[in-house]
Amino acid sequence: MSLDTTETWADKANALSLRTQAFIDGKFVDAASGKTFASINPATGKSLADVAAGDTEDVDRAVRAARKVFESGVWSRMSPAQRGRRLVKLAELIDQHREELALLETLDVGKPIRDSLGVDVPLTATCIRWYGEAIDKIYDEIAPTARSAVSLMRREPLGVVAAVVPWNFPLLMAAWKIGPVLAAGNSLVLKPAEQSPLSILRVAELAIEAGIPEGVFNVVTGFGETAGRALGVHMDVDAVTFTGSTEVGKYFMTYSGQSNLKRVSLECGGKSPNIVLADAPDLDAAATAAAWGIFYNQGEVCNAGSRLIVEEPIREEFVEKVIKVAKTIKVGDPLDPKTEMGPVVDESQMKRVMAYIAKGSEEGAALKLGGDSVAGENGYFISPTVFEDVRRDMTIAQEEIFGPVLSVISAKNVDEAIAIGNDTIYGLAAAVWSRDINTVFKASEALKAGVVWVNCFDHGDISSPFGGFKQSGFGRDKSLHAIDKYTDIKTTWIHLG
Ligand code: NAD
Repeated sequence: MSLDTTETWADKANALSLRTQAFIDGKFVDAASGKTFASINPATGKSLADVAAGDTEDVDRAVRAARKVFESGVWSRMSPAQRGRRLVKLAELIDQHREELALLETLDVGKPIRDSLGVDVPLTATCIRWYGEAIDKIYDEIAPTARSAVSLMRREPLGVVAAVVPWNFPLLMAAWKIGPVLAAGNSLVLKPAEQSPLSILRVAELAIEAGIPEGVFNVVTGFGETAGRALGVHMDVDAVTFTGSTEVGKYFMTYSGQSNLKRVSLECGGKSPNIVLADAPDLDAAATAAAWGIFYNQGEVCNAGSRLIVEEPIREEFVEKVIKVAKTIKVGDPLDPKTEMGPVVDESQMKRVMAYIAKGSEEGAALKLGGDSVAGENGYFISPTVFEDVRRDMTIAQEEIFGPVLSVISAKNVDEAIAIGNDTIYGLAAAVWSRDINTVFKASEALKAGVVWVNCFDHGDISSPFGGFKQSGFGRDKSLHAIDKYTDIKTTWIHLG
């Protein structure tokens, strides 16, 4: 962690040059319509830049460039080892531009600079490097047929993959797509969220420097209803990989059905239960993890532990511990290296979260901490908020708030805790804290979620798959399983005469 001061970071931010055009076929270009939209700094409410508002024509141009380069074979038929080397080079360039990319991320979405610099950018590089290093170590298969034939099962890239991603981890969510999509030999058209276009445009430019051919990695900036939809219904896009809300995920299923039946994979919302049982091994560690499990990244985390389910005998003591940790969290200017929580991403998100807080009180939950929007020079700051006495059917226990709001629900025993944990349309992640190996296995099997953490929260690395059950989506990001989404298996049956 650099010891720079807020002023130093502000000076560095002023010296940044921002990329604001779409990146198509290796070049920055204006939107065909000439239209732009403002990218707002949520810490100040002021505009950072006017960014190209891509639409159908721009998407079409990007898809054509992606298709052309795919068919040329310069990337799709390059040896996996050579593609891998270029991805590793891109990861190195991301590391080298760590401060610049971290600043872009912090300015665009309000993420504390300590997180952008210490977490988002390094993990982005790690992800891309991992797929670059892995891709020439994956073997194809031969089926166990009779000796009179050889049946080869080869993985082939799909062609043009569209990635539509959210604003909460702009670089990292994009990297989870870029790594496996490009390693497998596809071309990519990526649409960042309209709240967070700046950092990924710089990465696309670095990809050219890394030797990735023009047209392989395109970025079309713009709104969901226009550029996002255009990708979803495009007849020449082979697959869409989406991360975002469940509501928009459902649109992509419809777009696919209305167009060319493109493959769709969805990483959607969550309402993760964090279950703390009376025999948890270390209540202080569990309380710290519970607080950071919801307040990290301003609560704008798909797998946030937004429902804290505590076994009744320890509830009072445990909630006190969580509140004690929450009170230490420093909310403020994201360019201050000591800041631990910045503003939420924009004004509409702030209003949405505040409306949920009002609803929590209206429905009878007890507000124990926060609940207010913290003054911050026109920025969109909300303090860490904790509700107790939450019933499982309340709005704040059912809907994804995507902000720093914790709902504490009491459970009589492990069975009730599991039942409450599963009482949601979502199934992205869950956690259970217990000393008893039998309880832990029972809970991890019974909880319907893509990942279950035991005696920790939000742990993992690039080697382990991540994704949802139920309405949290399907398909997995991270790990070698992600490659499955971006390849098809071609069977070649050779008759041996
Ligand atoms: P969102 O669904 O509003 O937007 C996501 C992306 O979809 C953006 O690029 C947006 O422009 C685009 N989009 C919006 N409307 C569209 C439409 N009608 N047609 C096509 N594209 C459209 O989500 P968000 O507000 O950016 O992000 C928050 C959501 O993302 C939360 O629900 C969160 O849980 C989820 N998320 C999930 C994961 C995961 O891995 N499961 C990770 C991060 C975020």
